[in-house]
Amino acid sequence: MNTARLASLTKSQAMLQITCPWCGPRAESEFSCGGEAHIARPLDTDALSDAQWGDYLFMRKNPKGLHREQWLHAQGCRRWFNAERDTVSYVFSKFYKPGENPDAAAKNGGVA
Ligand SMILES: [Zn+2]
Repeated sequence: MNTARLASLTKSQAMLQITCPWCGPRAESEFSCGGEAHIARPLDTDALSDAQWGDYLFMRKNPKGLHREQWLHAQGCRRWFNAERDTVSYVFSKFYKPGENPDAAAKNGGVA
């Protein structure tokens, strides 16, 4: 967020809230982002080429728009969860536990 936009917001608007699926809404300062979510480790790593292994380890999406990410509630329950966030507006649209289907979570009120 740029400085001019941040200065125009009130204090309550400037604080980003993130909803931990276990603890509920908390200040952004309690969380750490762990990068892109839903990256599956290859089953047969010995069969991978160096380029394929490098892609798995280092190559990540960098979309302009909706992005699914892993977050750690570092200053709370210390559990990992997933969130869907718009990378342009910073607005979170979904919070869900690992293993949950994010599209099903939205139907069940998983949106915060
Ligand atoms: Zn938590």
